[in-house]
Amino acid sequence: MPQNPYISIVVPVHNEQEVLEELYTRLTATLDKLGKSYEILFTNDGSTDKSSAMLCDLHLRRPDQIRVIEFNGNYGQHMAIMAGFERVRGEIIITLDADLQNPPEEIGKLVAAMEAGHDVVNAYRENRQDSWWRLKVSKWHNQLREWMMPKLKMKDEGCMLRAYRRNIVDLMASTNESSTFIPALALTYAANPAEVGVAHAERSAGTSSYNLYKLIRYNFDLVTGFSVFPLQVFTMIGVLISLFSFAFVVFLFARRLIIGPEVEGVFTLFAIMFFLIGIVLFGLGVVGEYIGRIYQEVRQRPRFVIKHILEKNTISSSGTKRDAIAPGEDAAGLKVQEQSTY
Ligand code: UDP
Ligand code: MG
Repeated sequence: MPQNPYISIVVPVHNEQEVLEELYTRLTATLDKLGKSYEILFTNDGSTDKSSAMLCDLHLRRPDQIRVIEFNGNYGQHMAIMAGFERVRGEIIITLDADLQNPPEEIGKLVAAMEAGHDVVNAYRENRQDSWWRLKVSKWHNQLREWMMPKLKMKDEGCMLRAYRRNIVDLMASTNESSTFIPALALTYAANPAEVGVAHAERSAGTSSYNLYKLIRYNFDLVTGFSVFPLQVFTMIGVLISLFSFAFVVFLFARRLIIGPEVEGVFTLFAIMFFLIGIVLFGLGVVGEYIGRIYQEVRQRPRFVIKHILEKNTISSSGTKRDAIAPGEDAAGLKVQEQSTY
């Protein structure tokens, strides 16, 4: 029976053919230098470029250390990480983006912090190299998040270079939520979290898979997934508006008694009405976000579908109740596993 590795690196991959080779070289060099046993779990999240073939090649180069989970479509970065979490064998689990924006050479810092006794170590990017609008959006969002969810202490939520102890990862994997934000989930379970500064590089090749729409969506997911603050805001706005309109009615009534009826002010009325309609629509949207999440969870559909897994010593490929192996692909999947089970 082979020994479980000490460190598991989990890497989500979506169309990263330009960087995979360099990632492999730098990541394995760093980990070899650390001198601890390790495994690397890549999840190919429905890439349409050569990433899949390249990952297969990486697995064949180091079949003992490199495992590849192949999704049958694109389920998003966090689900790709979750699939890795369900299958890790290490004691310290580190998530890393494939695009080399967080240099793998910084992994040693995280491992050191974990060995100092922390159960979650978040990295924050020192002098972040991203487009100005990403920096701005990210800054506002970090401030807004801290205000709405003071318990989620994270200098830099967008940085995915993070380390977790195995019990935290097992808890996250068993949460079974279909849309989640992993760093926030980890903090809700962490007993002794820490933050360390890491370097940040510009994307050396390829393009970011996030656009403005995806970023807004993802931030809505984060807020509605971890807080009911927006709902509370609407209750408060409702209370304030009711109080205000009550005072307004009293005022109009008194005015009518003293000065007599009025007909002017129609446009003011329109302005007030449009403002209130805007608030009501936004409020409905917020309620809809929560209902959408409830709907997603009650359906209990698989969170992602795995086409096949490339690994040498297969423990299990059945997954939990919220993920599945693609029925049509099962045979192919098993074949690949047999090939690599020498
Ligand atoms: N990624 C993924 N699925 C997606 C989008 C991204 O697995 O649908 C991966 C991507 O390959 C990378 C990481 O998630 O390893 C971060 O993505 P990206 O660099 O595009 O995001 P950014 O750094 O711009 O936030
Ligand atoms: Mg990136």
